Amino acid sequence: MNKSWAIVNKILPFSCVDGPGNRLVIFLQGCNFKCLNCHNPYTISRCKECGECVATCPHQSLSFINNKVIWQSSTCQQCDTCINTCNYQSTPMTYRYSIEDILKLIRKYLPFLNGITLSGGEATLQLAFIEQLFSAIKQAQDLKHLSCFVDSNGYLPQLGWQKIVNVMDGAMIDLKAWDNQVYEALTSKGNLRVKKSIEYLAKMNKLYEVRFLIIPKHTDLQQNAEQLANFLKQFDANIKIRINAFHNHGVRGEAKTWQSASKQHIENFAMELKQFGLKNIVLPTVYLS
Ligand code: SF4
Ligand code: SF4
Repeated sequence: MNKSWAIVNKILPFSCVDGPGNRLVIFLQGCNFKCLNCHNPYTISRCKECGECVATCPHQSLSFINNKVIWQSSTCQQCDTCINTCNYQSTPMTYRYSIEDILKLIRKYLPFLNGITLSGGEATLQLAFIEQLFSAIKQAQDLKHLSCFVDSNGYLPQLGWQKIVNVMDGAMIDLKAWDNQVYEALTSKGNLRVKKSIEYLAKMNKLYEVRFLIIPKHTDLQQNAEQLANFLKQFDANIKIRINAFHNHGVRGEAKTWQSASKQHIENFAMELKQFGLKNIVLPTVYLS
């Protein structure tokens, strides 16, 4: 019996944009980045049990028992008042799942699934859970055909990846800027480790996709298309690149004033990457600007 459990923000039983095929996606709570453009800042921190949000709930779905916040999902109206009250970029609306709970859920949707993706927040902050869950899937006769993926910001050091690389089938990694200082201004962390993760996963044949988010005037990816292409081509010119377009709906703070990326922005960048030799580029299907 596995003893590990995870703090989960949300589970999507079906997704076709989080890796190959139809996937069950588990969004884990907690992140080590503080991206200015974060669309879900309430996933950044774990609840500090301060109790501040309890009295603000208009539907009495929160209570404070033994110094812990208890969320009653059956009466919650998803009004987000608690999230807007919280000063810690957290939420009281999380779930605690054991490995057995997740395996049960996977079996419920099994006929429709090609795989499982762990996302976040930043999934790798709960590395022991990932390791145990993927191992359990690989060892179960009825589940071992499912592919196991991680969607990550790439900040995990190589020693961390080594713990899961044998039970993980692939990873999607975000590279948010090329220059270390630009990266740090956007995310609060530098990108050297992210580049190392890309290199390590590519060499281990576990890099499923690299994701670029275009934020006009705030990412420097467009200015560095040649360096990006050269960096990735040294591993494989066919590495799958997914370009995402920033949109300012739903972000907070200064990012609200940032320009959204247009179809033209994205297509120009994709053309440059192609000119510099990258072959497998996926564009957004919808643009909001
Ligand atoms: S969600 Fe935020 S406000 Fe509510 S108890 Fe947790 S830390 Fe405090
Ligand atoms: S979203 Fe938060 S504040 Fe709103 S009903 Fe649910 S628990 Fe209460």
